[in-house]
Amino acid sequence: MPLVSMRQLLDEAAKGGYGVGAFNVNDMEQIQAIMMAAKETKSPVIVQASRGARQFAEDLYLFRLIQAAAELNPDIPIAMHQDHGNSFETCKSAIELGYTSVMMDGSLKEDGKTPSTFEENVDVTRRVVDFAHERGVTVEGEIGVLGGVEDGHGAGGSGLDHITDPDQAVEFAERTGVDALAIAIGTSHGAYKFTKKPDGSVLKMDVLIAIHKRLPNTHLVMHGSSSVPKELQDIVNQYGGKLKPTWGVPVEEIQLGIKNGVRKINVDTDNRLAITGAIRKVFAESPEKFDPRDYLKPAREAMKNVVAARMREFGQAGHAGDYKPLSIAEIAKGYKDGTLTTRPLVASK
Ligand SMILES: [Zn+2]
Repeated sequence: MPLVSMRQLLDEAAKGGYGVGAFNVNDMEQIQAIMMAAKETKSPVIVQASRGARQFAEDLYLFRLIQAAAELNPDIPIAMHQDHGNSFETCKSAIELGYTSVMMDGSLKEDGKTPSTFEENVDVTRRVVDFAHERGVTVEGEIGVLGGVEDGHGAGGSGLDHITDPDQAVEFAERTGVDALAIAIGTSHGAYKFTKKPDGSVLKMDVLIAIHKRLPNTHLVMHGSSSVPKELQDIVNQYGGKLKPTWGVPVEEIQLGIKNGVRKINVDTDNRLAITGAIRKVFAESPEKFDPRDYLKPAREAMKNVVAARMREFGQAGHAGDYKPLSIAEIAKGYKDGTLTTRPLVASK
């Protein structure tokens, strides 16, 4: 089937009370791994590319691969999403290429490093929303600033530096009309999120719950939400890797988030670890091998297993056939005539 609207995917997830994993891709094997997992678990899925990924793979290679994934998997709704757009132009170029969803990360200035002001964030996000909705494309915004750096994007520092303020989240949602809202609750991008299993002092699930109470119908997005399981770290290190001990976001915390309005969960690091561990294992155990398929095939399989596990844990498994995807033109019409509301429901404190 053609690529579908992320808004529709998330609206349906809200109806069904589940979350949808958004998995990052840079190459064919990663896209195949996601589609194998989606097929196995019958899951709707969000595939996303960062600016770094678009540069690495060249836009057209990556986009054509996604189109192939959609054509080969007619029963799986797939949304193609720009992860962390840094400017109006980045989002516009993704939309013109055919992405069905974009993130305008106006929490940072265009350099992707410096925190912006609230007004700057509202302004650029609003412009992207106007441009995108006219074309039936979904927009995710971000309020608060994530910790860490990934693909050259991020303010660095701890995830606790710029936790989202619930009042600002409400004002941001009202003034921008975003379809989904990424919030900062202490998580960071990359492998090194927490130095021990996170508790409420570093992972602010209470803030997430407070935002959900004020914005009960807004789709919340968790970034930096790999779980960084020890088993995956161990495989990398067992075969010559040198990862320092680290902790991610436990799956049960994500599941608590899903009970409180989280509809999109970004996962990248876990897949990177699975791929690297599988490749290292082949290199260590069979140093005579030199056909890339000998290590890319197990790498793809390892990533597929992680993605399928997350799909089951997030609850999206089994929901691929629940609804008939609307065309992007129908979605555009919905935004225009107001069937698809962009006014958030706001509950009083
Ligand atoms: Zn992110």
